Amino acid sequence: MPTPARIAILPEGSDTLRVDEITLPDPGPHQVLVKIFSTGLCHSQLHEIHEHRTNDVMLGHEATGEILAAGAEVDHVVMGDRVIIGGIPRTIEAPTRRPESARVEEAGGRVALCQGVYTWADHVLLDELYVVKVPGDTRPDVSCVVGCAVMTGAGAVVNTAKVRAGQSVAIFGAGGVGLCTIAAARIAGADPIIAVDLADEKLEAAKRHGATHLVNASNEDAVEAVRALTRSDTERDMAGLPVAGVDVAFDCIGTDVTARQILPATRTKPLGVDGQGQAILVGIPADDFPVSPLDLFLHEKKLTGTLAGSCRPDRDIPLFLEWFERGELDLDALVTRRYTLDDINDAIAALSKGEIEGRAIIEF
Ligand SMILES: [Zn+2]
Repeated sequence: MPTPARIAILPEGSDTLRVDEITLPDPGPHQVLVKIFSTGLCHSQLHEIHEHRTNDVMLGHEATGEILAAGAEVDHVVMGDRVIIGGIPRTIEAPTRRPESARVEEAGGRVALCQGVYTWADHVLLDELYVVKVPGDTRPDVSCVVGCAVMTGAGAVVNTAKVRAGQSVAIFGAGGVGLCTIAAARIAGADPIIAVDLADEKLEAAKRHGATHLVNASNEDAVEAVRALTRSDTERDMAGLPVAGVDVAFDCIGTDVTARQILPATRTKPLGVDGQGQAILVGIPADDFPVSPLDLFLHEKKLTGTLAGSCRPDRDIPLFLEWFERGELDLDALVTRRYTLDDINDAIAALSKGEIEGRAIIEF
């Protein structure tokens, strides 16, 4: 039975979303129809809004909802199941089929496309590979941020960096993803946990989520501050200088400033000692940035990226929900603003101006 949906559409050539009434067809064999309870706003969507496009698009890639109908070939969810939607396929166990990107036919015959999924809508029709079944009592509101912010930030700690207890970390950018990185570092037992941001309010939020040291980069040189906090009294590097820097530095923003800061903020080391410092690009890097080959070479540092926290959603979403259940991951503190779908452009404006601490969500 076709289902009426209200979907935020970004028309070609415009940076203002409009909410359209669209009738969704029944799911195809590998599709699911999901009623959305809540969905988050991610910084990467600002890139999508402002990039050049030749078609209408739909946005959003984190949500919590309920299965209303599933296609004939779908075997991991049934009608009534609660699910979390993320922007990457849930499993690597089904390599024979790639997920199909969702598309919607608008009135007048135009087609709106998206990057795999869209979630800024009260109902969505998606490839089943983008939904993960979660317990039926999973909170319908704040749990939606697990789909991107938590997977990206916490996954970078758990999967990409594999942070161990006692390791030192620095997180550049205390937005939604940065706060999840900080919380996961705290859960992993990292110490110190140094948060770097330009805004004191965001640094205070970082402290609440587990940062042990705060660096306001508008007042001081962030790299020097991180190195000063981690300088060794005993160890010397190849050049005879005191070893300094964190075991892992995360760039959770992706500006050219932060991207170039994480490598020099990463730990130098004496020759022959185990443990390479890691600089990790978590936010989408905006541009090319300079890297010191000598810094990489002499101190055997690693510079690496992480896409959605190197997560496998079917394995990792249950873990992150457990953290939330046990009170270790404070999603109630992470979600600081709630909007309706009709306020979507106000929400985007606030996100663009950097006004949103943590994460904003849309509730239905
Ligand atoms: Zn995202």
